[in-house]
Amino acid sequence: MTNTAPSAYRPLRSTGRILMGPGPSMVHPRVYEALSRRLDGHLDPEFLQIMNETQDMLREVMGTRNRLTISVSGTGSAGREAALVNLIEPDYEALVCVKGVFGARMCDIVERLQGRLHRIERPWGEVFTPDEVADALERHPGVRVVAIVNAETSTGAHQPVMEIGRLCREKDKLLVVDAVTSLGGTEVLADEWSIDVCYSGTQKCLSCPPGLAPITFNERALERIRLRKRKVSSWYLDMGMIESYWTDGKRAYHHTAPISMNYALHQALAVVLEEGLEARYERHRRCSRALVAGLEALGFRLFAQEGYRLPMLNAVWIPEGIDDARTRKLLLERHNIEIGGGLGPLAGKVWRIGLMGESAKRENVTGFLSALESLLYLAGARKEIGASLEAAARAYGEAS
Ligand SMILES: *Cc1c(COP(=O)(O)O)cnc(C)c1O
Repeated sequence: MTNTAPSAYRPLRSTGRILMGPGPSMVHPRVYEALSRRLDGHLDPEFLQIMNETQDMLREVMGTRNRLTISVSGTGSAGREAALVNLIEPDYEALVCVKGVFGARMCDIVERLQGRLHRIERPWGEVFTPDEVADALERHPGVRVVAIVNAETSTGAHQPVMEIGRLCREKDKLLVVDAVTSLGGTEVLADEWSIDVCYSGTQKCLSCPPGLAPITFNERALERIRLRKRKVSSWYLDMGMIESYWTDGKRAYHHTAPISMNYALHQALAVVLEEGLEARYERHRRCSRALVAGLEALGFRLFAQEGYRLPMLNAVWIPEGIDDARTRKLLLERHNIEIGGGLGPLAGKVWRIGLMGESAKRENVTGFLSALESLLYLAGARKEIGASLEAAARAYGEAS
C-alpha cells in the first residue's frame, strides 16, 4: 500500500475559539494538563484515591453528604438517563415539569421506560411555582417521582427548587433535579433542597470537556431502587452495579472508567473549590450583569422571566433587522467567538450567550460586546460605537 497521507491525518491545531454558547465552556489549563496525564489502570490504588477525592469534592460542590455521589460515564444526558432508569419501571408514575427542551427530554425517557407520565407545562422562559406542582400532585396522587430542571439551558430560566423539594418530601415523593447547567455556576444544595437524585455534566460551569455526569443518590432513592420489581433496564447505567465499583473495599469491575476524564474532573473540581463556591457564583453574577447591561444598551431584551434569570445562560430576543445566522457566523469567523442560537420553537428568535465557568471572564464579556457592536455597526444597524462597553463598565461599578 502506498502512503498517501490523507489530509485527515493532519495535526489538529487549536482555533482559539472563545466559547460563549450553551456549553461546552472554556477549559482551565490545569484540566488540559490532567487530560494528558499518563494513564494508570482503573483499579490502580492511585486511581482509586483520585476517585475518592473526586467524590469528596463532588459532595461539596453538590451540597450533599450522600455516600453515593459519583460520576457516571457519558455526558449530562447519561446523568439524566441514570437518574430515571434506576427509579422508573413500567407503570411507575412520574410527574415531569416541562418549561423547555431539557424537561421534555425527561418525559421522553419516562415514556421509553413505560412509566406512567404526567406532564405539566409552563411557557418557555418561565418557571413553576410550588403551588403548581402541589396541584398536579393533588390531581395525580399515584405519582412517586417528580422531575424538574434547575437551570433550563434552552431558555435561560432559573427554577427555584427548595420549596418544591420541601413539598415532595412532605408528600413522600422522590425528587429528581437536573443541575447540568447550574452546578458550579450557581448554588446547588442537594440536601438542603431535599433532592433525592441530582445529576449534572462536566462541560458547563465545571469547565471540563464533556464526558462525565456527576450524580448523587440519597438513601431514599437507593431504598426505592432496592424495592424495584424488575432489573434496571439499562445494564450500563445500573446503579447497583456501578455502586460496587465506587465503594471502597468492593471495587468490582463493571466497565472501564474513562480514566483521563476522571483526571480532568478531579482537577476541574479542585479549581472550583480553590476559587471558592461563593466567589465563583459571584463572578458569574457580575459577568452576567455586565453582559446584560451591554446588550440592553444595544437594544436587546432578555428572554426569560424577570427575577428568574440564569447568570450563566443569558437568552435574548434577536431584535428585528438582525440576521441570526449571518451574525453568528461572523462572530465565529471574524472574532472567534461562539454563541448559541435558539432551540426548537426559539430557533431564529433568541440567542443564548453562555458565561459558564472559565468562560465567565470580564475580557470575554467585553470582547463579545465590542465584536457584536462592531458587526451591528458595519451592518448599518447602529450609528455609533461604544454604548455597550460603557454600560458594561458601569455595571462593573466603574465610571467610563
Ligand atoms: C447540556 C444539558 C443537558 C445534557 O447534557 P449533554 O452533556 O449534552 O448530554 C441536560 N440538561 C441540561 C439542563 C443541559 O443544559
